[in-house]
Formats: sequence, C-alpha cells, structure tokens
Amino acid sequence: MDIDGAVTLMPDRSGPQSPPPAQAAPDGLDQFRASLTDWLSANLTPEVVASGRGGLVVAETIEILRAWNRTLADAGWAAISWPAVYGGRDATVAEQLAFHEVMTEAQAPGPVNAIGVANIAPAIMAFGTSEQKDRYLAPMLRGDEIWCQGMSEPDAGSDLASLKTSAVADNDGFVVNGQKTWNSLGQFADWCQLYVRTDPSVPKHKGITCLLVDMRSAGVEVRPVRTMAGDSSFSEIFLTDVWVPNTALLGSIHQGWRVAMTTLSHERAGVARLHLGLTARFNELLDDARSAGVVATPVQRDRLARLFAYISTMRWMTTRELEAIGGGGQPSPAMGSVAKLMWAQATQELADLAVGLLGTGALAGPWTKNLAAAPAVSIAGGTSEINRNIVAEHGLGLPR
Ligand SMILES: Cc1cc2nc3c(=O)[nH]c(=O)nc-3n(C[C@H](O)[C@H](O)[C@H](O)COP(=O)(O)OP(=O)(O)OC[C@H]3O[C@@H](n4cnc5c(N)ncnc54)[C@H](O)[C@@H]3O)c2cc1C
Repeated sequence: MDIDGAVTLMPDRSGPQSPPPAQAAPDGLDQFRASLTDWLSANLTPEVVASGRGGLVVAETIEILRAWNRTLADAGWAAISWPAVYGGRDATVAEQLAFHEVMTEAQAPGPVNAIGVANIAPAIMAFGTSEQKDRYLAPMLRGDEIWCQGMSEPDAGSDLASLKTSAVADNDGFVVNGQKTWNSLGQFADWCQLYVRTDPSVPKHKGITCLLVDMRSAGVEVRPVRTMAGDSSFSEIFLTDVWVPNTALLGSIHQGWRVAMTTLSHERAGVARLHLGLTARFNELLDDARSAGVVATPVQRDRLARLFAYISTMRWMTTRELEAIGGGGQPSPAMGSVAKLMWAQATQELADLAVGLLGTGALAGPWTKNLAAAPAVSIAGGTSEINRNIVAEHGLGLPR
C-alpha cells in the first residue's frame, strides 16, 4: 500500500469549500490578492524563502530576514492590520485572511520583528505617549529596531504575576535588577518590553510596571540559549543595576498587569496562519514521501487521514469565526486558546509522523529538526495546560 490514498485527501486551498469571510467586496479582495501576488513575484527571493523556513530566527538568517522586513514595510506589507496613520493599511478581516493565504502559498516569511509588530506595538498604541509612538513605531515596523518581550523569569512563567525583577525609583528613572528568560529574539534585540516589580508590598498583580528598555543600557547582559534542535533563537537576559529613565514607562506606574493583559492585537485573522502553515507542511510531507517512494503502513495512513481531518477542522473553525467577526460579531470566548491547543497538538503529531514515515530519509530534510523543535510549541505563548484551563473556565464556564 502506498500513500496515494492519503495524497488524494490533500486540502483544497482555493476551492469553493473555503469562501473568504464577508466584509470587503469580492472585486476589491481579488485586486488585493493580485497586487500582493504580483509584488511577491517581483520581490521574494529563494534566499528569503529558505531563511524563513521553519519560522526560527537564528544568527545565520537574521540579516536576510531583517532586509526582507524592510522591503515588506516600505511596500506597506509589514503590518497591514495596523492603522494607516502608523504605516499599516487598516486592513479588514477578509484582507488579513487573504494576506495570510497568499503569503503562505508563496512561502513568504512575515516581518522578522514579529513580537514587536504583533504584541508590543498594540500596547504602545494603546498606552504610549505621543512621544513614544513617534519614537518607536516606525523603526519597529521596518525591523530597523528589533524588539523582544521580557516577561518570563526562572520562577515566573505561567504564573507571570509572581515575577521578581525589581525596579526602584532613582533620580529621574528606575534602577532595575533581576533575570528574564526564554526571550525570543533577545540576542538580536535593540529594545525590550520589560515587566518589573515596582511595589513588593501590595498583592502581586498590583505592583508590576512595564518599561521600554534599551538593550544597550549599561548592566544588560544577554546570553543566548541553545535548544535541543541545535539553534539559539532565544536568550536569557541578566539586568544588574540598569538605570532606565522615567520616559521608558509604558502606561502608569504599578499598572503593568493591565498592559500585559490587554491583548489588543489588530490582527484579527492572525489565527488563520496556524492552519495555513500546518496545511503547507502537511503537503510538503506528502510531496517528500511521494518523491522518496515511501510505502506507508495502514497505521501511518490512518494517522495521516486523522491529521488531515484535524487540520480541516481548524480551517472550518477559523473560517466560521472570522466570518462572524467580519460581520461585526465578537470573538468567541477562549477561541485563541482552542486554536493554540489544536495547533500545538497537530504540529507535534505532524513532526512525529514525518520522521516515522520518511525514516532515515528524514535526516536530509527539515523533518528531524522539526521533531526536536516541536515540544516547544505546547509551551511557548502559554502552555497547553494553561490553555485547557482557559477553555474550561471561559469557554465552557466550568468552575476554577
Ligand atoms: C519557544 C519559546 C519562546 C518563548 N518566548 C518567550 C518570550 O519571548 N518572552 C517571554 O517572556 N517568555 C517566553 N517564553 C516563555 C514561556 O512564556 C513560558 O515558558 C511559559 O509561559 C511557561 O512557563 P514556565 O516555562 O515557567 O513553566 P511553568 O509555568 O513553571 O509550568 C511548568 C508546568 O506546569 C504546568 N502548570 C503551571 N501552572 C499550571 C496551572 N495553573 N494549571 C495546570 N498546569 C499548570 C505547565 O503547563 C507546565 O507543564 C518562551 C517559551 C518558549 C518555549
């Protein structure tokens, strides 16, 4: 038995099964897709595609991806969901979805400064002073200044509010001491959105402050962390008597928890990237297996079919959600957690299945590296256990 039975199950990415959500006129949306497709044909190089593969940013690829970030920004494609006044396009949900579909199809990486663009910029837009918006947003959009997020500490991850890094008022600023860890892009970052404790005498959620810290400040030491996949894409950050000016305060003092919990991302269709990325990798696996002449066992065929059904479910769930939001509805409670949980599970299953299916042939491609990197996806950005808690409490209304 070969894998052809599974191959015929390949998702139809363009067919009538996945209508674009309502909101933008179809003509406008077609034009939008065509203009991005044309622009990618003229600008996307194989080197950029190869550097973006796998989604990890490492020393060998950072400068290529940074240059690509600038190219995207200068053409208005780095953050289409940002308000136009800050360099975005005020894109509708339908346009955001179309953007992710075209980018995934072309294997085009997004901006390398993803944490800044998707997570930190919305907080600066919501809580920043006009000086902060003028100073930080434009270089962030181009990737001229890379940002990292300093939340987790050795003893504060899921329970972020127990963070201990301290900031004590001093002259016109603060003196910061402590340690952060698992900081994605930390070794490349020019700036850090840092969460610190400014009042240890009040309940833990109430004494936290958010600071925008120059990573070149005296007393900042960055140590890259090497993972079992062999890469260093995140770091530990040690802060020793680092002086930070008052102008670095994002929001009010002791109100950092509000900043951290305000998830104001403008990118409503970002969730679609999860099933789009999985579909692309699922298809890559089928292509690799086919060209290697792999003969799948019945169990492997069954797992492939189940994975395909799982990814299809993600696609339908996301499409339904985005159609509702595009029509003016509110996001479903815990939708982000459900999508993250399903993505983590499918990513790990795909990585495991690929190595089993390709055997020693997997050593030549990205698949063994994928397998080593896969455990991280159920930890980063909130663990699967924490997401299950959120689904139970906020989605199903179960008691804590
Ligand atoms: C690839 C990657 C990138 C990351 N990037 C960043 C970054 O850029 N910036 C940053 O600040 N951090 C980053 N992190 C850190 C990440 O946010 C934390 O690892 C995560 O929040 C979990 O915290 P922890 O590792 O301390 O585990 P812990 O919180 O100590 O959890 C240990 C285990 O206990 C479980 N657990 C904890 N609490 C509960 C509970 N209430 N109910 C049930 N189970 C529970 C967890 O699910 C987990 O299995 C990154 C992590 C990874 C893997």
